[in-house]
Amino acid sequence: MELPAAVKLVAVSKFHPFEAIEEAYQAGQRIFAESRPQELAAKVKTLEARRVELGDPAYMADIEWHFIGHLQTNKLKMVLPYVSLIQSVDSVRLLEAIDNWGSANNKVLNVLLECFISSDETKQGFSEHEVQDIICGERKYSNIHICGVMGMATYTDDETVVRADFRRLKEISDILQDWIGEGGNINSDCKEISMGMSGDYQIAIEEGSTMIRVGSMIFGERY
Ligand SMILES: *Cc1c(COP(=O)(O)O)cnc(C)c1O
Repeated sequence: MELPAAVKLVAVSKFHPFEAIEEAYQAGQRIFAESRPQELAAKVKTLEARRVELGDPAYMADIEWHFIGHLQTNKLKMVLPYVSLIQSVDSVRLLEAIDNWGSANNKVLNVLLECFISSDETKQGFSEHEVQDIICGERKYSNIHICGVMGMATYTDDETVVRADFRRLKEISDILQDWIGEGGNINSDCKEISMGMSGDYQIAIEEGSTMIRVGSMIFGERY
C-alpha cells in the first residue's frame, strides 16, 4: 500500500486475534484501532502477558491504540487508560463524561469529533452546527484535546456519493480552522481528518484525508 507521507495508516484489528497485531507490528505497523471496549482491554492484557512471558517489559512498547467504535459512558475505564486517540466521540454526553474522567484521573484525552456526513440512517455523529457549539460553546473541556474530525461515507458503490461525503468532512475541517481563536475548545493543531477505509481510502486521500482506518485489506475478512 503506497501512501502519501502525510497520511497515517491506522490498522483496524477488531475481530482479529492478538497474533495478527503482533505480525503487523513486526512488519512495521504501529497504530492499531479497536471498536469494542472489551476486545481492546483484552488485547492490552494479552500484550502485558506477552511481556511477562518474554521477560521484556519494553516489548512492542511503542504500539499505539485508537478507539473507533461506539463508546458507552459506563465503559470508559476499559478504554481511556490505554488509548492515544478516541476517534469516535459522537455526543456531548460522551464528551462530558470523557472530560470528567480525565479530570478525575489527571489525564488529557485526545479525541476526534465524529461527524455525520453519510446518507445512511444508522450512522452517528455531529452536524457542523453541533461541532461549532462544542468548539465555541460555554462549556470548557479542560481535559480534552480536540485533534480533528472523523467520518464515514455512505455505504455504496457509487463513487460520486462517497467523494461528496468526504468533501463534506474536509469542508467541516476547513470551517474548524476558521474558529481557531474563537472558542476555548480548539487548538491550532486541530487538523486531523480521519476518513477512508479498505474500500474507499484512495478517494478519501484524494479528498484530503490525514488518517485512514484500514481493516480487512490488512487482516483479511472478519467473521
Ligand atoms: C471496521 C471499521 C473500519 C475498517 O473497515 P474495513 O472496511 O475493514 O477497512 C474503519 N472504521 C471504522 C469506524 C470501523 O468500525
